Amino acid sequence: MKKRQTWFTEYQTDSLSLGLRIDDILASETTEFQDMLVAQTETFGRLLVLDGAVQTTDKDEFVYHEMITHVPLFMLDAPKKVAVIGGGDGGAIREILKHPTVDEAHLVEIDQKVVDAARKFFPAISVALDDPKAHVHYTDGIEWVRNARDFDVIVVDSTDPVGPAEGLFQADFYQSIARALTDQGILVAQSESPFLHQDLIRSMKEGMKTAFPYVTLYVAAIPTYPSGFWSFMMASKQPVKPADRARTASIATRYWTPAIQEAAFVLPRFVGELLQ
Ligand code: SAM
Repeated sequence: MKKRQTWFTEYQTDSLSLGLRIDDILASETTEFQDMLVAQTETFGRLLVLDGAVQTTDKDEFVYHEMITHVPLFMLDAPKKVAVIGGGDGGAIREILKHPTVDEAHLVEIDQKVVDAARKFFPAISVALDDPKAHVHYTDGIEWVRNARDFDVIVVDSTDPVGPAEGLFQADFYQSIARALTDQGILVAQSESPFLHQDLIRSMKEGMKTAFPYVTLYVAAIPTYPSGFWSFMMASKQPVKPADRARTASIATRYWTPAIQEAAFVLPRFVGELLQ
């Protein structure tokens, strides 16, 4: 008799879904903050899902984690102090610590269970969380940022804007981040899909503009995120341009290149129009 297949389906909108055949369910639990699922898939390796939404997979995590970190870090000559809000899988911390000048990388994750699952099931993603330069805080990023100061880069690596992450998309949070950054400091936040989340992108831009004069967007292809085409919003108090070291860097990456550092900001017309 043919073995019954099990599929994971993410309902991305009321009329669009992503289906992945799963070979094994490795963990399924309701934490204090969200429903969490870890599964083995044929196409993308291990899969982490929170509240029904794909967070990361073994096969395409490198795109998101490299692009949310190296692009802002390579705008600076010598970033030293960096924070990630959310990002409990640890992938952003792994990439940040590839920059030799960074001496403090803080991970501020509300849900310790996500970090525990990442350590257990995603060792290649969470590999840097035990680095002496990594500092893990289990608390609400909105509260934590209020007392943070002198950061060179703050990365908002959040879930979708519902539940505990809702406040991570709002103007007063961006204002706290502006106070937590140096004058040359940079904020970057995952800003969802230019095809599917246009109102959110517009409202994030409005929110960031209340605290930062310079707000831009860049894009990357991430197959397991809704529409496969993803955006990142970057904000700063001063104009930014790639540091010279971005052209000669020899850090190990699979998506980011010196050319992508600049090319990622070249936007299709309909995406550029979202910022006008
Ligand atoms: N790359 C992912 C994506 O775009 O789907 C996000 C990955 S990461 C797992 C997102 C994390 O943000 C989750 O683990 C969640 O617990 C955390 N998070 C949500 N709201 C938060 C808050 N207010 N403070 C700190 N962490 C938060």
